[in-house]
Amino acid sequence: MNVLAQVVLTLVAATGLVLFLLAAIKGIRTYFKYRGKRLIVCPENRLPAAVEVDALRAGYADAKDSPHLQLHTCSRWPEMRACGQECLSQIEHSPEDCLVRTIVTRWYAGKVCAVCGKAIHEVDWLGHKPALLDPEGKTVYWDNIQTEKLPEVFSTHAPVCWDCHIAATLLREHPDLVTYRPWPPRT
Ligand SMILES: [Zn+2]
Repeated sequence: MNVLAQVVLTLVAATGLVLFLLAAIKGIRTYFKYRGKRLIVCPENRLPAAVEVDALRAGYADAKDSPHLQLHTCSRWPEMRACGQECLSQIEHSPEDCLVRTIVTRWYAGKVCAVCGKAIHEVDWLGHKPALLDPEGKTVYWDNIQTEKLPEVFSTHAPVCWDCHIAATLLREHPDLVTYRPWPPRT
């Protein structure tokens, strides 16, 4: 093999590698863009539904330059398993806005705990998550509620900080271990 042929082969290989890497980066970015649980309005009944896009498939398809979205899960399945997945247009239009993570973060932003009055700054996703206070006065973590019920629950429940949720849970489940000392009334 002469030198010219070696140079041409090297250039072809290098170009192929660059194209492969660019496609891989595109696919990975698409995967991260579409992963995670989302809340959409189901076009069939106009009510909230919780869905997840098949982010792996979306990333792979985009890497091959043939973008294609499809759902991986939906809270209305299996009843609506054969639907046309028209809700995907909402996700394509604003992928960030319908992420449950975004919706929860925005709801807690600027709110104060309904029990102690402390400001709830940022949602700590891994540790001290804030909770909710239901109309009966019981606290519950928002992620223990069905995702599609969150819009309704956010309109009827109040925000509660992690400390107050833990204290309320302890008082509710182990009253024998807790001494309850309410704040003295103000004079
Ligand atoms: Zn509190």
